[in-house]
This record gives sequence, structure tokens and C-alpha cells, in this order.
Amino acid sequence: MIRVDPRSSVAQLMSSPAVGRALRFFETNADAITEEQIRICEIPASPFGEQERAEYLSQKFRELGLTEVEIDEEGNCLGLIRGASRSPLLVVSAHLDTVFSKDADFTVVRREGRLFAPGIADDGCGLAALIALAHVIQKERIEFEGSLLFVGTVGEEGEGNLRGVRHLFTKGRWASHVDAFLSFDGPGVDRITNRALGSRRYRVEFNGPGGHSWGDFGVPNPVHAIGRAISRLAGYPVPKDPRTTFNVGRVEGGTSVNAIPGSAMMEVDLRSTAQSELQRLDAFFRRAMRDAADEENARRRAGDPLLKLKLNLIGERPMGETPTDSPLVEIALEATRMLGFEPRLDQSSTDSNLPISMGIPAITLGAGGASGFSHTLDEWYDPRDRDKGLKRGLLVILGMVGHR
Ligand SMILES: [Zn+2]
Repeated sequence: MIRVDPRSSVAQLMSSPAVGRALRFFETNADAITEEQIRICEIPASPFGEQERAEYLSQKFRELGLTEVEIDEEGNCLGLIRGASRSPLLVVSAHLDTVFSKDADFTVVRREGRLFAPGIADDGCGLAALIALAHVIQKERIEFEGSLLFVGTVGEEGEGNLRGVRHLFTKGRWASHVDAFLSFDGPGVDRITNRALGSRRYRVEFNGPGGHSWGDFGVPNPVHAIGRAISRLAGYPVPKDPRTTFNVGRVEGGTSVNAIPGSAMMEVDLRSTAQSELQRLDAFFRRAMRDAADEENARRRAGDPLLKLKLNLIGERPMGETPTDSPLVEIALEATRMLGFEPRLDQSSTDSNLPISMGIPAITLGAGGASGFSHTLDEWYDPRDRDKGLKRGLLVILGMVGHR
């Protein structure tokens, strides 16, 4: 990477007339950026259903003059802005997917300055940032020493298990060429996520013979077993520090009020800021599931078949950290301060987890504005002051790959 002094380089950038024009673009084009965000967010993008949104983004990339535009084997949308040299190569990304199912209503409703829609902020504002950044680079003819690979990733949320970014860094054709990674995810202008929060996610299934609620009473009941399992997990004594959390996010099972279910399942998310705590929680969780099955089986009618437990690991996110003295973090800190905000280093679970775990400098930034009720159908985004987030993003990009 280019060795830079972040303080002087960010100040120098801000004094360049071309950069000044580019920074003002985000203010004068605020409405158009919001219109673009609405267009892209109204294209449904459920987990494993991002294709239409990826096609729209690739169309945008082409219109904005990006080259080598493609949708890769995994479904990521890629486009290059070539500088004087192919390296350093910085990935600038946002995620295409949402946590919502295909049949959710993705129509954006505007009310009192706010935009309401599932995924409008997470990661609608990140996608809007990608398009706005590519637009200003083209319009102001900003030239770079290194190059930028713009990427809309698939599978950041939930069961996607970072499949898009994982492909990008392990199998994709750019895999060994990326020098640093920047992701825009959610709103805000002070947050710099440089630490990757680890998580493990499971689908738990209990399967039994099923039967009639009266006639077969005593047959082991998978829904009762789920109840026992949740009760055990809910009693886990989490430490305050390091912060450790668990969540049963989905439960399913049974067909009728008077039938003993043949199966039941739940999905569980376990997280911790420390590897040792995550392992401890994971071990407790597995034992709790086995004990719940044993307990339900111990009460079964003599001669009835056993209830079976199946644990499927459906997600595993690696943890790690981009050091605070790495140029990427230093430039982000300095750019945040230059815009008048107090930077906040943060730990979260984002696309950056994957490059961080491979030792590639990576951070996730807010894309400006404010939001609430993320991951619910009441999610909203307020685009006021979005320009601050975009300005910071552009300064970080320029600081990393060099302005010519
Ligand atoms: Zn997100």
C-alpha cells in the first residue's frame, strides 16, 4: 500500500478544487441520490434472491462508465474504476440482500422526511452510496493512482453467511488482487467498524413419530422438546463483558392443534466479542439441546420410538481486527474528524469480517443519514445529512488509492 500521513493527506485532499466540487455534489444532488435509493430498494432482494437488484446495479455501473462490469458466479455485481495502476486495489462495497422474504412489500413510503421500507437503510443507503460515489467520480473526472473495484455483494445477512464476500476473496477472479476493503452498511457518519464480531448460527430440528393428541399421548413431542430447549438456553448466564448474546429467531413446527407434531425446528444466533466466550456459549447451547431431547424422551410412553435431534451449523462468521494504526483506519479516523465528527471505533458483524479474518485491511462505514427499526418491517431511513457520510466515504477512497 501507499504509505501516507493521514492528517496531511486528508487536509490536502480537501483543499483540491476537484475534490471540493465532488464534495459539494453530494449536497446539491441530495434529492437525486434519494430517488436512486428508492428505485433500488423497491427491487425485492431476499436472501438468495438478489439477482434482479444485481442486474439493476450492473446496469447503473455501465451507465456510470465502470469497466469489466459483471455478475460473478455467486451473484455479486462488480465493476472497475481503473486508475493509473491496478494496485493498490480497493474494494468499495455494499450488500444487495435484505433479511426479508420475497413476498414482503418493498414499496417505499415517504412520510415527514423519512423513507419507510424493508431494507431501506440496511443496506439501501449503502447501495445508494455506491452509485453516488461512482457518479461523482465520473462527473468530476476524478483520477486515481490505484484502482477501485465496486461490488454489490450477495448473502451478507443471516443464512447468506457472507457467501458473496467469501466468494470474492477466495474463488473470484479478483481474489488475490485486493489490497483493502471498504463496506458501506447502514447510516451514520461517526462509526468505523474495524473489529469483526464472531457468530455461530444453528438450525435445530427435533423429529419424532407424531400422532393423535389424545390417542397417542405419550409419544415424544418435538414442539415440547423445543420448549424445553429454549427454556434451557434462555437461562444461560451471559457475561456483561465481553459482550455475549444469543437469540432464538425463528420457530416452526406442527400442523394442527390436535396432532402431536412429527417435527419442529428453530434457528439460533450466538455471538460474542471474545472467541473463548463464544466457545463457552456454543458448548452450553449444544448440551442444552441434547438435554432437552433426553428429557422429552425420558417421559415417553414405554415402547415408543425416540425423538431425534439434529443440529445444523448454518452460519459461522470469523472474528478479528483491522489494527487502529493501519492506514485504512487512520484515514477513516482523520476524515471523520475533518468533517467535524468524533469517530467511534466499533465492533460488528458485516462483510468486513471475511477480509479481516484473512489479514486484509477492512472497515465498514455508515453511509450518512439516520435510521431505525432495522431488520423489521417498520425500518426507516432519514436522508438528512447523508452528504456527510458520502463525503467521508470519498475522502477515505481518495486517501487509500491516491488522488492524481
Ligand atoms: Zn447490513
